Amino acid sequence: MGSTDPEAPGLVILESYGDVILNFADGRSSRLLVSSNMLSRASPVFRAMFTGGFAESQGLSSSSPREVSLPEDDPYATVLLCRIVHLKHNEVPKTIDIELLIQLTWLCDKYQCALAVQPWAMYWVTELLSHAAERTLQVEKLLLIAYELDLAEPFYKVAEALVREPSPDANVLHLLNIFQRDHSKLLETIKEQRLSLNRNLMGAFEHIMHPYLYYGFGDRSCQQEAVGQYFVALAGAGLYPPSEKLSQFTIPQIMHKLGSFKMQRSAECRCKNGVGCKGSTSDPTDIQSQLEKQLKIIDKNTKGLCLDCWNAERDTYDSESCRVRH
Ligand SMILES: [Zn+2]
Ligand SMILES: [Zn+2]
Repeated sequence: MGSTDPEAPGLVILESYGDVILNFADGRSSRLLVSSNMLSRASPVFRAMFTGGFAESQGLSSSSPREVSLPEDDPYATVLLCRIVHLKHNEVPKTIDIELLIQLTWLCDKYQCALAVQPWAMYWVTELLSHAAERTLQVEKLLLIAYELDLAEPFYKVAEALVREPSPDANVLHLLNIFQRDHSKLLETIKEQRLSLNRNLMGAFEHIMHPYLYYGFGDRSCQQEAVGQYFVALAGAGLYPPSEKLSQFTIPQIMHKLGSFKMQRSAECRCKNGVGCKGSTSDPTDIQSQLEKQLKIIDKNTKGLCLDCWNAERDTYDSESCRVRH
């Protein structure tokens, strides 16, 4: 940005022979000298504004650039958009604040020019996602940005991150007012996938006890001891009660906790190999590795969301139209 002196707002020149000056509601921000031709190439809305029957289109020339007021547009996001559209790529920042990106995304919807900013947005969203450790609601916002700008690959990755990461606050309703489109179904679907992942994790930790309870040897003391040991091991690993704990950790974190998960066969055990608690599905010394195996399967089956499938309301990969392989 140039000068922000309230007395003399600076003129940012994006095109020396520009024929339009954009100004903003607050009057404090820089005005922008731009080329109506460059803006028209990127945006059909600008094209209509500059060539159609609007008042702005009368007598455009670089000798006396016409002032165009954009009272509802964010000045900083508009400068950024204009730099990209005028191919001033050396003046485009490599990193960007997410709130500015939201404003830019909003502008792209208004002016129908998402295509022009896609290469930059793809880079920014990926970069912001990699620094989203503190989270708050950053990742949910990135999902909506990726959707609005039609960024297939970032959308897939952001959706996967949302499904995999424990959500500190599922209340994202206030985000829905940012954009004109209704994204409630999308956010609801992500939430359902997260819940489904939790159910699968719970299922793995419950199912592992089935051989000890339902295979007809439940009255043996070695089997009963295994069941007791299991709950003690869960608590020792910080995973008890599973219904509460499993939803608080990522799969790698749960894997790590399983490292301390040790169970032994009872000293009283007289079971023969393949029968009772010495069977291939019910050896208590194997529980840790069996759980790890199950978690790996769940991990492998946890996927992102394909933007193209979502838009087409399709369930399965289509090599013709899916931009992300899944
Ligand atoms: Zn036994
Ligand atoms: Zn797809």
